[in-house]
Amino acid sequence: MKRVALLGATGSIGRQAREVIAGHSELELVAATSGSQPLDGLAPLTQVGGDPVELLDRAEPDVVLNAVVGFAGVRATLWALERGIDLALANKESLVAAGDLALEAWKRGGGRLLPIDSEHSALHQCLEGRPGETVAGVVLTASGGPFRGRNRSDLADVSIEDALAHPTWNMGPKVTIDSATLANKGLEVIEAHYLFGLDYGRIEVVIQPTSVVHGLARFRDGSALAHVGYPDMRVPISYALTYPDRTPTDMSQLDFSSGLVLEFEPVDDDAFPLLGLARRAGERGGIHPCVFNAANEVAVGAFLDGRLPFLGISDIVERTLEETGGEPAADVDELVTRDQEARRLAEKALVPA
Ligand code: NDP
Ligand code: MG
Repeated sequence: MKRVALLGATGSIGRQAREVIAGHSELELVAATSGSQPLDGLAPLTQVGGDPVELLDRAEPDVVLNAVVGFAGVRATLWALERGIDLALANKESLVAAGDLALEAWKRGGGRLLPIDSEHSALHQCLEGRPGETVAGVVLTASGGPFRGRNRSDLADVSIEDALAHPTWNMGPKVTIDSATLANKGLEVIEAHYLFGLDYGRIEVVIQPTSVVHGLARFRDGSALAHVGYPDMRVPISYALTYPDRTPTDMSQLDFSSGLVLEFEPVDDDAFPLLGLARRAGERGGIHPCVFNAANEVAVGAFLDGRLPFLGISDIVERTLEETGGEPAADVDELVTRDQEARRLAEKALVPA
């Protein structure tokens, strides 16, 4: 039996993970957490809100599935990496924000970091067993979200409902807005940098509107391997939880007889500046990815509360990044403080001068 601790069990990924766990007799749910929703009887150990570290200590899991949204997942990510316990990671924000601290903990712990983000799960599979020197780079695909094809001026007065209407994935509100702004792809570029040890110059992004191609790895001989499948998060969840066994699922195989067409388009950087802002924050390194993430979380929250227009999200992130500098955080407590400072700066930027 593999003992699973599921953090963020009530969310979009959390619910799908429960389905996957229920369908695999070799997986046992030993602990579950949420932010505020009740979890009665879901697992032998449950916790609503607060720091999950003591619960994890007691649960003694073989794998932690972190499906918390936002920076709130950071302590659990570091807990698993530090102890060499397998980490099935949906909570990309924690890896982006913790950055080098997470890499150091991963190295010390020596466990597995198995991405659940579909693009990174795809790349994990394309890159597995390939010597680093043969890899030329990776390509992350993006659906383009509900506003694909629109100009910047078309985006000035889009509504919350418009931004929440994702064309290919049904996800929680924060990642859905991030998909509409392409901040999600920006976070994923930084996530790929840390997961696969690639320079930013070797991480490309391309629009693939139907989300059938999840990622591609390029090799030095001119070939590229693509990972394809219908967009269904239960596949990467199952891959991460049952790694390396790739146990069967009842998901449909791609049907090529239906005249499947795969189209690709470049990203419009003018309409979707958050992708470039994330890339630059990643290249600057240190505390900047943490600040990018914190400001984006504040701005997305303000957009969802009706306090900020859609195009204001990138303005808040840009201004917060401009006002930040300094050394990387030395430990997780300092990281939490720096995250809070960045949130305060972003909140200040929300108030018109
Ligand atoms: P949801 O908003 O649907 O769920 C978030 C989960 O986190 C809920 O269980 C919520 O509990 C819990 N949570 C929220 N705040 C806290 C907190 N402060 N402490 C502890 N738990 C908290 O998000 P998603 O499932 O969509 O996304 C989860 C993560 O997975 C994100 O990082 C996202 O980027 C990533 N991801 C999601 C995909 C998807 O298809 N949904 C695809 C790829 C990545 P409660 O219900 O009680 O509020
Ligand atoms: Mg993704």
